[in-house]
Amino acid sequence: MTDAPLLSIKGASKRFGAVTALEDVSLEVGGGEFFALLGPSGCGKTTLMRLVAGFETLDSGRVEIAGADMSGAPPHRRPVNLMFQSYALFPHLSVFENIAFGLRRQGAGKTEIAARVAELLQIVRLEGVETRRPDQLSGGQRQRVALARALAPRPRLLLLDEPLGALDRQLREETQFQIKEIQRRLKTSFVVVTHDQDEALVMADRIAVMRAGRIEQIGAPAEVYERPATRFVASFIGQMNFLEGHMESGAFVGPFGRLPAGDDGLEDGAKAVLAIRPERLAIAPASEAAEGLRGVIEDVAFRGETTHFRLRLSGGETLRVSRGADGGRSFSIGDAARVSFPPSAARLFASE
Ligand code: ATP
Repeated sequence: MTDAPLLSIKGASKRFGAVTALEDVSLEVGGGEFFALLGPSGCGKTTLMRLVAGFETLDSGRVEIAGADMSGAPPHRRPVNLMFQSYALFPHLSVFENIAFGLRRQGAGKTEIAARVAELLQIVRLEGVETRRPDQLSGGQRQRVALARALAPRPRLLLLDEPLGALDRQLREETQFQIKEIQRRLKTSFVVVTHDQDEALVMADRIAVMRAGRIEQIGAPAEVYERPATRFVASFIGQMNFLEGHMESGAFVGPFGRLPAGDDGLEDGAKAVLAIRPERLAIAPASEAAEGLRGVIEDVAFRGETTHFRLRLSGGETLRVSRGADGGRSFSIGDAARVSFPPSAARLFASE
């Protein structure tokens, strides 16, 4: 990220009748940053994007782009472009004409357009298909034409709304890396809207996790994964085990007995949950391990790189445990095992 934020949203609120779509949302996106808005359906992601693009107006708050207040600025006066999930390529126009579309509207000359389209075709690796129509392309190629078209007028900020929604799984993964590489090369700021945590984790420099019109956390992928700020973030990003318990004399009392709690602001007597990732749990055969909580393996799922176990504890709770391919002994359904974890691997949240 470079110094001054390219996009700055301050205290943005937006209601539609009785629905509060956004409540006091503030965030900044830096020049050249790849930022993701992540959250479940209906949390306000699209509304926020539409506000930035100028298709909605704020009830209160402010949107600034490159230091300029955007209130009252119509979409075409903002240094922003949008790429939607349904790419809406013009079916009757060639790839060349689709990419050239925004440039023609800007009044660019013939030579300039030809040079810019050629440059973009090279950037999105689509040289040689410029005379084809969209229906003569694969889904992944269409997606890249849409990206080239959105980038052609050189927006300072590109908003991508569920850009990979129309692609199948394998193509999505491939395209995630392509988009990221293109963004890195061009250094245009990208804001991608997604409800897919993998997509956000793979592509973005920073992620804002949204819920019901509010931002719950903003951070780098590793930060929101390893230090989720709320129980919601902990459950929304990655797999997580939650164990119920309560606070007593500065410790969390739950299935693992008493665990000293850090400075997490939970009061004595309060109900709390311990959150621990499946990969942070160590598992050993009960016959070989002296420490850890005892349970019985209820399910084993082999997933290539990892194996996942479901373990039922004697108290009835189940834990998901995952292990890498080289993670030692395997287990079968019905085996007795013990699980343990380093205290630093767990986090505590207030019960909701
Ligand atoms: P999705 O992932 O499903 O697109 P989202 O996170 O993008 O969801 P928004 O589309 O921003 O969510 O919607 C936020 C809330 O505002 C929802 O409750 C939605 O029904 C409501 N909403 C959005 N636009 C309008 C509108 N024009 N009129 C009324 N309600 C709206």
